[in-house]
Amino acid sequence: MYTVEAMSCLFCKIVEGSIPSTAVFQDDRVYAFADINPQAPVHVLIVPREHIASLDETDASQRALLGHLLGAAAEIARTKKLGKGYRVVVNIGPDGGQTVDHLHLHLLGGRAMTWPPG
Ligand code: AMP
Ligand code: ZN
Repeated sequence: MYTVEAMSCLFCKIVEGSIPSTAVFQDDRVYAFADINPQAPVHVLIVPREHIASLDETDASQRALLGHLLGAAAEIARTKKLGKGYRVVVNIGPDGGQTVDHLHLHLLGGRAMTWPPG
């Protein structure tokens, strides 16, 4: 059962497999894949399988899912041997730099990060 939003959503299409991606991790709630335009040696996107437009669209009923996404990031970081450190980023809305309206975590690692971000 798809909403109109989900039918036209790039990351929903990646989750369902109609647009190809390089899978990094998956379970019943989460799909993670390589970013097509990597900003670090490791750049993985972690998305919920269900369509959620942004962090700003979530409510209290989705907190377990949000924790699950973060836990998946930590698990992938361990698999990728990022013991020296890494960064997890969530862009929200136009000012946050979000370009795909399906909630996603960026896992970036394999180089030293700078602060503040742009
Ligand atoms: P954001 O700007 O936070 O919305 O991040 C969207 C991310 O999706 C960017 O880092 C893009 O490089 C990435 N992206 C866009 N299209 C694809 C795709 N087809 N496969 C993998 N990553 C993608
Ligand atoms: Zn979607």
